[in-house]
Parts: sequence; C-alpha cells; structure tokens
Amino acid sequence: MKLSGWGRYPVVDCRVERLREREALPGLLAGHDTALARGNGRSYGDAALNPELTLSMLAMDRMLAFDAKTGLLTCEAGVMLADVLATFVPRGWFPPVVPGTKFVTVGGMIAADVHGKNHHRDGTFGAHVESLMLATANGDVQPCSRAENADLFRATLGGMGLTGVILAASFRLKPIATAFVMAETLAVRDLDETMAVFEASRDWPYSVAWLDCLARGAKLGRSLITRGTFMARRALPSQLASNPSRLPPVSKFSVPMDAPSVLLNRASISRFNELYYRWGRVRSGGRPVHFDPFFFPLDRIEAWNRLYGRRGFVQYQCVLPKAKSPTGIAALLERIAASGQGPFLTVLKLFGPAGEGLMSFPMEGYTLALDFPIRGGTLALLDGLDAITHAHGGRVYLAKDACCAPERVRQGYPQRDAFKAVRAEAVGETPRFASALSRRLAL
Ligand SMILES: Cc1cc2nc3c(=O)[nH]c(=O)nc-3n(C[C@H](O)[C@H](O)[C@H](O)COP(=O)(O)OP(=O)(O)OC[C@H]3O[C@@H](n4cnc5c(N)ncnc54)[C@H](O)[C@@H]3O)c2cc1C
Repeated sequence: MKLSGWGRYPVVDCRVERLREREALPGLLAGHDTALARGNGRSYGDAALNPELTLSMLAMDRMLAFDAKTGLLTCEAGVMLADVLATFVPRGWFPPVVPGTKFVTVGGMIAADVHGKNHHRDGTFGAHVESLMLATANGDVQPCSRAENADLFRATLGGMGLTGVILAASFRLKPIATAFVMAETLAVRDLDETMAVFEASRDWPYSVAWLDCLARGAKLGRSLITRGTFMARRALPSQLASNPSRLPPVSKFSVPMDAPSVLLNRASISRFNELYYRWGRVRSGGRPVHFDPFFFPLDRIEAWNRLYGRRGFVQYQCVLPKAKSPTGIAALLERIAASGQGPFLTVLKLFGPAGEGLMSFPMEGYTLALDFPIRGGTLALLDGLDAITHAHGGRVYLAKDACCAPERVRQGYPQRDAFKAVRAEAVGETPRFASALSRRLAL
C-alpha cells in the first residue's frame, strides 16, 4: 500500500503486514532481507517506511501488568498513549513524558525516545523505561534493560526501529491528584526575553513557547510562553472539583479534504501569527486547563495534516547547544522570516541534559520546531536551515526529518558509529531492520 508519515511526504509503496502475536514474527520475517516495525505513523517523514516489509504493531495492544505501588506498567508495544491515558488518568496516574499527540504507540515513543514539555526536568520517555523485549535478527527475543543487554537497550532508545522490533516494555507512570493543569501564559517581546523566561521557569514541570516566526527586527523571537503544573485537588475551583479526574470529550472536528495551497501564503500566515499573539496577550495569566488541550491541542482536529494541502509538509525540528542557541535560533528565525515561507506554528522548548540513548535527539539547549508545506523552494530552504543548525553544533530530529543530508546527521549524532556497532552485533553486519530514512542517511 501507499504509505507516508504524518507529513504525507514522501509517499512510498510498502508491503505491510500486521503482527498479531510475537510467535508469528519469524514467519513474517522469513524470505525478507529487511523489515521495520511501524507504530501509528505519527513520525513526520520517512522513519516508519520500509518498502520491502513494514510491520504494523497496532494489533499488539494488550496491557499486561500494573503495579499500583510503584506505577510500573508493562504493555505490548502497539498500545496507544491515548489508551494509557484513558485507563490510568481516572486512577490517578499519568505517563512520565508525553509528546504533542496522544495518537502514538509505546513502541514509537521508545524508538524515537520522545520528549515532552518537561524535558528540562524529567528527560525523555526512555529515561522512565525500565525494560523492554526486543525481537532481533530472526525473531529471537532479547530482554533489554540497564542491567541486561545494556548496550542494545541504549541503542534501542531513539534507535528508530533499526535494532529490532520492540514487542513489549515496562515503564513508570507518575501519580497525579487531578486531571487539571494550572497553566500560565506570558506574552514576551523578543528572543532574549523568551530565553530568560524559560530559565526563570525551570521549576515549572512543563514549559513551551509559541513563536511568531514572521516577526523581524526588534520583535524577532516574540512569543507566548505557557508553563504548567498538575493541580492539587484542593486547588480546583468548585465547578471542577466534583470530578477531578475526568476524561475529555471525544473530538468532533475533522478536516474533510486537502486545503488548497493558495490559503497558505505570506499574508494569511502573517495575519494568523499577529492575531494569535494578540489573543495570547489578552488571555495571559493563570487558569486551570484540562490535561488534554494542554498537552495535545492539535489532537482536537482530526486529520489536521490535510490543512497543508495535497503535496504534504515537512516538520523541521532541530536542537542547538545552549551556548550557541541565542545566535543560532536568531539566525534560523531570520532566514525563515526572509524566505516568507513562515509556518503557522513555531514551537520553542528548553531541553535539559542529553539522556542515555545513543541516537536520541535531545541535548542541553533549545529546540525549535516548525512546519513547512511542500512547494517550490521548500527543500532549498530546509537545506539552508540545516546548514545554520550544523554550523552551531546542533542536529535535526530523525522522527521529523524527510530530507537532511547524511553527512550532517553523521556530524550531529557523534554516537552514530557506536550505535551502528551495537546494531551490527545484535542483528548482523547486513542491516536486518531498515527504513527509507536509514537508507537515505546511511544509518
Ligand atoms: C502532532 C504531533 C506532535 C508531536 N509532538 C512531539 C513531541 O512533542 N515530542 C516528540 O518527541 N515527538 C513528537 N512527535 C513525534 C512522535 O511522537 C514520534 O514520531 C513517535 O515516534 C510516533 O509514534 P508512532 O507510534 O506513531 O510511531 P511511527 O511513526 O509509526 O514510527 C516512528 C519510529 O518508531 C519505530 N517504531 C514504531 N514502533 C516500533 C516498535 N514496536 N519496535 C521498534 N520500532 C518501532 C518506527 O520504525 C519508526 O522509526 C509529534 C508528532 C505529531 C504528529
């Protein structure tokens, strides 16, 4: 079938099989030189595509065990984050790290070693994984943890499915008293102030900034910073206190067709950014917000990826080391504003120290993420952004990437050779698990 990531670029013809139980894996792998596990396809580019054999993990969706004393959940890799939330929020538990959508699988979160709005305090999802079961070469299953097959464990966190098929994992949930977050939004004038507010917000568990990417000159980097913390029961206003762990209503909005590309022009995007900033300024201050819109605002609109039109889009996400971030992020924003190809939403986050995954994306510094609809000139612009990122010692996020050059990934991920060595030992010199991304980037 024709398959793509969430950005709908590129589209690749893939043979797709559904894995229903681990015993079926050797039979599915037999006769294929390469294979790749796929979760819910929420990576943006070509990370979850293998033309020869793409294994859908969505039927491996059983929760296996939960320890209510420690919060340790063991589940199959195809379990969706949305199901973990629906099951455990009413019982007072929340995942340690969540990305910006709940429609991802546990296997996908481990393979991309996802980060959330709390990276500066809690690290990546992988930091909270105790152990996992990994099927390698012929379907042989290896238990991996910090104590057992530790190198393979580190290579699998952020390994983009290239070390094998994650069948199941155990990770720790954290206790919450209510489903509500006290969220505070601050309107900030420029990039220096944005970074200063991030630093001053270190004690807030969650923080994120929306940037007006078309603002230039003295307004470059102006933003709305939102920071939040889960609320205690006694802090809830009376109208929320009767059901403090409620789940959100199911979304009713959907984008029915591809948006015409004419809607996405400099004037409409500039207007949107201006209005959004003003709206944020008016609403600044603190208020209780349900966790669902706080963490997953885009999930409320089904198939929002169609808004970027038939040709799809690329999300560019990079991270720059802290010391280089002020100049590097300013250079990226200037380049984007000058191109006139500004995206609707530009997000900036502060990362804490890098974790243990050999190919994990985060490093201590600032990460910028923005969407670009595919049109003439987009790939050249992205190449220009890559050049700035790498000149400042940064790297791009493989779960979002669709077009970075292999030498830039080689420079940006210094543990790439160690990763390749562990992978070769586990699955043999000839890559057994491969993707369109791993071929493009010579991983
Ligand atoms: C709206 C939106 C917001 C997002 N926000 C964030 C964010 O804030 N932070 C962040 O880090 N990411 C974010 N992402 C990216 C997303 O979290 C990751 O791409 C995640 O990996 C997607 O999970 P998935 O189950 O859809 O995996 P897929 O996209 O299907 O696969 C992603 C990778 O995981 C591998 N994989 C999947 N399952 C397995 C398995 N069982 N065994 C081995 N390998 C496997 C695949 O081979 C592939 O390389 C966002 C994505 C969207 C669409």
